[in-house]
This record gives sequence, structure tokens and C-alpha cells, in this order.
Amino acid sequence: MNLDYLMPTRVVMGKDCLFINRSLLAELGKKAFIVTGKNSARANGAYDDAVRALEANGQDHVLFDRVMSNPTECCVYEAAAECKKEGCDFVLAIGGGSPIDAAKAAAVLAVNDIPREKLFARAFSGALPIAAVPTTAGTGSETTPYSVLVDTGSPDESRFPDGRPVVPGPSKRSIGSPLLFPRFAFLDARYTFSLGRNNTVNTAIDALSHAIEGFLCVRANYLSDVLARESIAMILDCFDSLIAFPADPRSLSAAVREKLLLASSIAGIVISQSGTSVVHSMGYMFTLNWGTDHGRANGLLMKSFLMWCRAREKNDPSVSPRIPALCSALGIDMESFCGKLETLLENREKASGAELDTWGAANMKNAANTYIKPSQEEIRRMFKEAVG
Ligand code: NAP
Ligand code: FE
Repeated sequence: MNLDYLMPTRVVMGKDCLFINRSLLAELGKKAFIVTGKNSARANGAYDDAVRALEANGQDHVLFDRVMSNPTECCVYEAAAECKKEGCDFVLAIGGGSPIDAAKAAAVLAVNDIPREKLFARAFSGALPIAAVPTTAGTGSETTPYSVLVDTGSPDESRFPDGRPVVPGPSKRSIGSPLLFPRFAFLDARYTFSLGRNNTVNTAIDALSHAIEGFLCVRANYLSDVLARESIAMILDCFDSLIAFPADPRSLSAAVREKLLLASSIAGIVISQSGTSVVHSMGYMFTLNWGTDHGRANGLLMKSFLMWCRAREKNDPSVSPRIPALCSALGIDMESFCGKLETLLENREKASGAELDTWGAANMKNAANTYIKPSQEEIRRMFKEAVG
């Protein structure tokens, strides 16, 4: 067996773990660049806890609270300029995947002069140390070496052979480097108690899709599979609670919140090894064009993707089957799983014929990392089945 497993993030979990483990923050530097979204970090108490921990350590801080959902490369350049101007020597990200991803890119840009057109070329030699406090239970960005950003320029990876962009306008692209693994991830489920139904469900589906896709990727390995199975089982355990989600976010039990948060960090570890599949690349189309939440976008595609995988496994003896093992991790058969997912998703969005044509012809970067590489025609059909 060949194996190469790197996961350098120290994960600390528990009530008040940020303050209790503040000595870890003290290792990172003298002045923190705290990166958050607009409101939630203050509202859920994570920002105050971080400031309390830093002050107890005698560390300074500056707050950058201008990260939007699906952060753009403009936003991270702005953050990095402020980080440099303020002389911060480490980055503390608090929020969902958006602030954590923006913080990672800012940590790179604060110590590397990278022109915008080279941002995604991964040519950098260092980054400020990063600590992450997730307040959604979905992206697992606190345990991944990726920063996913919206590149507002014209994409250079979705082009017709003559060079014309297939999907004009912005694209979602990622910077990946071991330098982007946070040094510490502090998991305190209390910060997720304020997440409403949509954010809770959509981020849980993102975590589940990391675990499922990670299991179905070329780069999956023995250890990522072990973790994927566990994360899938943990999230499936929470499915009935999610389906019966109460109107008041605070009445979803702390045990369910905690399980979702840990499962999503575990799923982050899975994709830190395996990467993601064609589902993530396809889902970006919904987010970019419709503003669909990232997790929901993956969820909309999951059924058609899994049904396609199963059919290909049946019809092609050269494919090593993965779906039976996936079903045993899910603990239910594929039809029952897709039925539950459908209940969570409620009404599906519908694409126009022109959208289906455009997306069906677009280059899907992660297709090559999917354990069975889908043809362009198969991608087109999956889009049609999902939102046609
Ligand atoms: P998000 O964009 O970070 O946050 C979505 C919304 O939830 C925001 O309005 C945010 O408000 C709010 N929010 C966050 N925490 C909250 C809380 N505890 N209570 C109430 N509201 C809260 O959503 P996300 O799904 O976590 O992140 C999505 C991004 O992560 C996408 O850009 C996706 O591509 C990326 N991603 C990255 C990785 C990776 O490995 N790096 C993996 C998967 C996805 P505020 O703006 O006020 O904070
Ligand atoms: Fe994701």
C-alpha cells in the first residue's frame, strides 16, 4: 500500500476551548489580524472570546470584518494590505468558510508580493501563521490547505479550443498549499447555535459532500477513507434532526450541533488528502450564477452524481466499485439516502436551456479527480437531471 498523509493542524474542541487553550495563540505572534464576516462572529460570541483570550495573553489585535460570502480576490488583497499596514504577525480567522478562506489568502499575500494574475499559480514561499475558529459546520476549511475564492476576472480554465471562455465572467478557484493548513483549529459548537435552518442544513450537506466525494476521488487513500466513513455516519446520524429542524435555531440540540461540527472538521481532513470531485466544480456554476449556497449547490447534484456512479460501476467491469462501501457507511440504501436528501433540499431550482447548454459544455476542473472520470456528455446529463 502507498500512503502519504499530512495533517499538521492541531484540532482542539470543547466549550470555551479558545480561552482555555489561549497559550496556543500566544505561540503565534504579537499582533493578531482577526478576519470575520460582517456580523455573525460578534453575534455568536466567538469574536469576544477571541479578544478575551488575546488580551489575557497580552497580544494586540486588529479586526477586519469585511469578508462577504464567497470572498473575491479583491477582498483578500484589501485584507492583506490592512494586515501589512497594521504590522500583524499572525491571522485569526473566525466564521464560516468564507472568512477562513479569505484569512488564509491574506496570510499568504501579507508576506508575498503576488500580482493578481498570478494569485492562483501557487508560487509563494511563506504565509503568516493561521488559527481558525469555525462558526458554521460545513466547509471544514479549518482543517484544509485550501482557500476558495471568486476570481472576478475571466476564467482561464473554462475555454473552448479557440480560447473563448465557455463560462464568461467570474469563476471559483482555489489556492492550495500545505502553508495554508491552519496551525490550530478551535472547535466550540456554541458558536454554531445561532445558525438558522438554511445555513445549518446547507453547511451540513457541504460537509457530507466532502466526505462522500472524498471517498469517490482518485486521490483518496486508506486514511482518508477511514475518516470519510466516520464523517458520513456521523452526519447521517443527524439527518432526522435536520429534517425535523425546529423553528428556533437554539432548540437544535447541542449534541447534534457538536456532532455536525466535528464531522465537518473530519470531512475537511478527508478532502485535505483526497480533494473534491466533479460535484464541487459543477456546484460552483449554481453559486456563481444563482447565488446558491455552496452546500446546497453540491446537494442538488448529489443524487444524479451517485446514480451515475452506480450505473457506471454496474456497466463497466474495469471500474473498482466504491458505491457498496459508501452505502454501508451511509447505513441505508442509495434510494433511501437520496429520498432523505431530497426532503432536506425541498424545492429544486430549475435551469434554463441556455444555462444547461453552457454549463454542460464547460470544463469541470475536478472531473479528472473523480474515481470514474465523467465525459462531457455525462456531465451535461447530470446537470439536466439535477436542475433541468
Ligand atoms: P459563509 O459564506 O462563511 O457564511 C454564510 C452566512 O452564514 C454568512 O451570512 C455568515 O454571516 C453566516 N454565519 C456564519 N456563522 C454563523 C453563525 N454561527 N450564526 C449565524 N450566522 C452565521 O458560509 P460557509 O458555507 O461556511 O462557507 C462557504 C465558503 O467556503 C464558500 O466560498 C466555499 O467555496 C468555501 N469552501 C471552502 C472549503 C475549503 O476547504 N477551504 C471547502 C468547502 C467550501 P457573516 O457574514 O456575518 O459572518
Ligand atoms: Fe465544499
